[in-house]
Amino acid sequence: MYEVLKSLAKKLFPSLLKSQEDSLRRLLAWKYRGKRYQCNICNTTLSTFINRENGDKLCPRCGSVGRTRRLFSILSDSGTTKRVLHFSPPKALKNRLQAFSTYLYKTTDYEGEFEADYHYDITAIDCSERQFDLIICYHVLEHIVKDIKAMSELYRVLDVGGIVYIQTPFTEGELYEDYTINSKESRLLHYGQADHVRIYTSDVLVDRLRTVGFDVEVKIYQEDLDNYHGYKVQENVLVAKK
Ligand SMILES: [Zn+2]
Repeated sequence: MYEVLKSLAKKLFPSLLKSQEDSLRRLLAWKYRGKRYQCNICNTTLSTFINRENGDKLCPRCGSVGRTRRLFSILSDSGTTKRVLHFSPPKALKNRLQAFSTYLYKTTDYEGEFEADYHYDITAIDCSERQFDLIICYHVLEHIVKDIKAMSELYRVLDVGGIVYIQTPFTEGELYEDYTINSKESRLLHYGQADHVRIYTSDVLVDRLRTVGFDVEVKIYQEDLDNYHGYKVQENVLVAKK
């Protein structure tokens, strides 16, 4: 029901939705008020998260999903100043990270789907080398045909000792990548989203990152279905170091 209402409102009153988003979310969160769960990004306590059809648990107050809340729990204000570049930043997470006193925080989004400081093409990032200590690249590489080029660009703009946090959708089976699948309809059918160009396995993505020079560690997280912060039950996060 939430999905249907949201898509209807987006079509009918897009500007109203944008200008009144905070009030609407506040109202929605009131409906879900309770103490059983908590969003760690906006700190709202809830009777339940909104369960989306794809399995995501959505925070009604800030719109975060489980993987974003997990990412926030991984990132911390460690006391060391970091130059940070965040690709396609979800709004609620961006607001929290901007407030970290040790982050020199910049954002980028090529398609203009997210509000951002830059609109970098990830396969040709328009900045000189070694500009960042931390890069967040979540749910981006599965959209990029020249993904190895994108990885080499991430490596180039990362400083020595820096880290990139990377995640994409993963399949447990084989890499699914076929460039003859190139229409929106067929990509939706094969990859589950009209603008995806492959489904990685975790191993294949690790191998590709290693070919451009990264040291890669795979962090595997497992949770109870009913966990307090609504994290995904099983999740892999790739930590790529230079
Ligand atoms: Zn929230």
